[in-house]
Parts: sequence; structure tokens; C-alpha cells
Amino acid sequence: MSRRVRAVVMPGPRRPLEVREFPEPALEEGEALLHTLYSEICGTDVHLWHGRLEGVPYPIIPGHVSVGRLATLRGTIRDLDGDPFREGDVVAFLDVHGTCGACYACLVSRQTTRCPHRRVYGITYGAAQGLLGGWAEAIHLKAGVKILRLPEEVTPELYIGGGCGLVTAVHAVERAGVRIGDAVVVLGAGSVGQSAVALAAISGADPIVAIGAPDDRLRMALRMGATEVLSIDALPHAERLAAVRARTGGRGADVVIEAAGAPEAVVEGAELLRDGGVLVVAGQYTDNGPATWNVHALLNRKHLDVRGCWGSDFSHFHKAIRILARHGRRVPWRDLVTRLSPLEGAGEALQAVEARAPLKAAITPNDLR
Ligand SMILES: [Zn+2]
Ligand SMILES: [Zn+2]
Repeated sequence: MSRRVRAVVMPGPRRPLEVREFPEPALEEGEALLHTLYSEICGTDVHLWHGRLEGVPYPIIPGHVSVGRLATLRGTIRDLDGDPFREGDVVAFLDVHGTCGACYACLVSRQTTRCPHRRVYGITYGAAQGLLGGWAEAIHLKAGVKILRLPEEVTPELYIGGGCGLVTAVHAVERAGVRIGDAVVVLGAGSVGQSAVALAAISGADPIVAIGAPDDRLRMALRMGATEVLSIDALPHAERLAAVRARTGGRGADVVIEAAGAPEAVVEGAELLRDGGVLVVAGQYTDNGPATWNVHALLNRKHLDVRGCWGSDFSHFHKAIRILARHGRRVPWRDLVTRLSPLEGAGEALQAVEARAPLKAAITPNDLR
């Protein structure tokens, strides 16, 4: 009889989470079983629990960003450089799987994060399809899943500290084209905003103004590299605008990265920019409704460059690990995770993330002691 693997199941929106047992999967050629060390509880999981994402095949095993130790491999699986993985390797994998390389999005418009065939571990795979989410003792890595070995400098704790927010921020900062000396404003002090601040600093931006709340997240943003923080709780809109203008010769920022989630933040982003500035919208992952803005004053006359940012691809995942290896000793990504929880505590931890109590939380499905 096959061994059993315990996993957290989200039966449906707003339904209590359950720990269920699954059979250990029979691996096919090119597949692997990963023993989970950490799996992130991300804002997306709150959206899943609220039923705010389309096409989710409930019941699901949540958890799309995870790190673990390879337990079993079937056949030879190689990394980007052709080196074979071995049992015992500590690895992470890109949650996006099955990007087809054969459709219009993949081949012609080259918007691979919009490929209709892509599947995402912990989001668009159902529990009926097996161990395809991270809140589980083990994860089934199907053939073709993009796996990367963590270099020695990148501990599992550091990797999960960067996690989903860092990979998303790599994409957002790349979309923004941040250059040395740019004045950058980051809207939102959640995990994407924190990493966007760090990456702007690494890119040589100055000043870097983080706008958000609550105060402990703003203090963290200073540690991540912000030169100044503005609280949306303490400062009304007009004062935030005045503060950014005062730091930028009255002109406004070169780049604004929106990672806040509220539709009005996109409008504020446009207001905070100088003429011809770049606005990257990364925080509207779920449909929070429309925003109203004066498109004459803020878009046309202002000559703005507005860029959406959807999901991430392998290049962002790969760069995130290199960035952690190079800068993870100095930038406190590790400290972003403020709550760890076993499988049984997943429901409570998810509610805490919903209430924005921990900056970041993670599940530790196996006893790490
Ligand atoms: Zn495709
Ligand atoms: Zn996520």
C-alpha cells in the first residue's frame, strides 16, 4: 500500500479548511516528489478563500510558492544548465506549469503570462488532481515543472521570505525600467511593495518613497531600502502628493509602482508622477472595481506611460533566486515572515493574513526540528 500524505484542503470559498490524507503519487518518467519545508500563505490565498479568482476548481490544496527537499525522482531531471537533480537537493519550483509555447500569446504577442494553457500549483489545479499545492507534506512535481536548486547562500527561510512577493516585484521593477538615480514611489507596503522597494534600491533609485500602512510595515520598508515612508493613515492624499513633489523638485516621481490593491491607488500613482513618468500597475490582481480619473490631465496631457503587470515567468523566478543569493545577507527578506504554522493551523493563519496581522506567513508541513 502506498504511503499517505497529509494536506490542507480548501473545500470552497469561505468553507473551513480541512487536513485530508492523499495517497503518495505514483511518479511517471521525469516527475519528482518534493518534501515541503515551507509554503507561503500569500494574499492570493485570501482571494481564493473569498472566491475572488476565476476558474478555481475547488476543492483545492492551496500554496503556490514553496520550497522543499527532493525526496524521490523518477528518471533524470535536469536544471537549466543540464545538471541532474539528486534526492536531497533543496529546491524551489515555478508555480506556473504548462505554458504551452504554441499559442498566440506564447508565440506571436509573447505575453506568456497570458497563455490560456498555463496552470498554477495551488490555484488552478484541484485536489482531485493530486498533490498539486504546497500546503501539504509533499508536492507532486509533474514532468516539465521548472525546478531550481537553491544555492548555499539562499536558505529555505530566505527563499520563502522573498517568496511570491519578490518574484512579482522582479517583474514589476523590470516593467518599470527603473534606472540609476530615478525617483521611485512604491504604493503598498505588503510583500510585493517591500520587495519592490528593495529592488528599486538595488537598481540605484533615489529617493525611494514607500506609501502605505500600518506603521510596522512602513518601518520594515525603511529597512528594505526606502529613503522615506508616508503613512496613508496619518497623511491625507493632498499631503502625500505635496511630500513627493517636495522631494522631486516639484515635478513628481520618475516611476511609480502600484502594489496596493485599491483601485484609487492607481489614480494616486498617476498624480504622483512627473510628466512622462512610468506607472506600473501590479496590485490589482483581483477585480476591486473601477477607478475614476481625469484622463485629460493625468494621462494625455501628462504624457504618462502606464504598464500593467500580470503574474511572472521563469525569468523572474530565476532572477529572484540570484538576487537573494547576492543581496539576501543585507536586505532583510528573511524577517518578512512573521508567522509560521503547521498544517492544522492553516485556517487560523489564513484568517490572520486576511486581517493583515502578519506581514507574511508560511506553512511548515513537516516537522523541521
Ligand atoms: Zn501558450
Ligand atoms: Zn502569491
